[in-house]
Amino acid sequence: MRDEWYSLRMRASNAGRHLSGAERIGRREDIPALTAALAQRALTHRGGSTDRVNCTIERLNAKAIRYGALPEVQSWQVENWQAGRRLAGRLLANAGVSREAVAASLAALDQGPGPGGQVMRGAMVVDAASGERLEPDQARGVRVSHMDVLPEERQGVIQGLAAAGLDHHRVLEALVLAGKVLQAPGLVAELCWSDDPEYLTGYVAMPGNGYQRICPLKEAGSRRGGRAFLVDRREWHSQVFVDFMEETPMLLHGPVLIHPPCRWNP
Ligand code: AMP
Repeated sequence: MRDEWYSLRMRASNAGRHLSGAERIGRREDIPALTAALAQRALTHRGGSTDRVNCTIERLNAKAIRYGALPEVQSWQVENWQAGRRLAGRLLANAGVSREAVAASLAALDQGPGPGGQVMRGAMVVDAASGERLEPDQARGVRVSHMDVLPEERQGVIQGLAAAGLDHHRVLEALVLAGKVLQAPGLVAELCWSDDPEYLTGYVAMPGNGYQRICPLKEAGSRRGGRAFLVDRREWHSQVFVDFMEETPMLLHGPVLIHPPCRWNP
């Protein structure tokens, strides 16, 4: 029988406030176990404060699934978050992002990219030449969805990351997300740091130059963070871009090439 693929998405909240989310793509026979694992994760989030869990299971059109390689990983250790921002700026500039767009993206994530300095649920889209914001909805942003590691390669990828000391589930999730983002039409680079006050590592991802982790890229204790997708407007079309990010299913394969970590002292 031909494989039947499903997308599984989980969202956990408390009193209407988003707590955690995760998603997977799997073959039909694996979906019940994957659902149980995501429900378990939702219900044990930070001591069990979850009061609502939504799981959506949706059959995918197997012919629509796109395949791609997970990006290679480089980790940079820097003195402090200010140095991290300078390194991020350099990497973005090397990818072809203008000085104005680098400054605009860093400032927006630093101050909270949503209306009134709030965190967005999704990502900003920024013109890599002018720094102008392009996403259709500045409160929500663009949400990347429908992506996962090819199931038969997942264990190997997790083991490879763990051997390099990168076994935090955030690393794999961000790597998968970046793997999809880097295939988007018109994408020049991605910049991200978390809104989690304790998770200080962020990254810059670029087609051809992989996923470059920078620690620290944010100040300890800050609840501000987000994502910026920097695009080349000449090769970018809003609807095509959003459809790709939000709807096109994508499975990423390994192995992940992990370079030895480096220190960066400007
Ligand atoms: P996180 O790394 O999960 O802490 O997310 C950092 C920021 O990235 C969030 O504040 C959102 O603005 C954005 N973000 C999280 N998940 C997604 C997603 N699936 N697609 C686009 N942006 C996202």
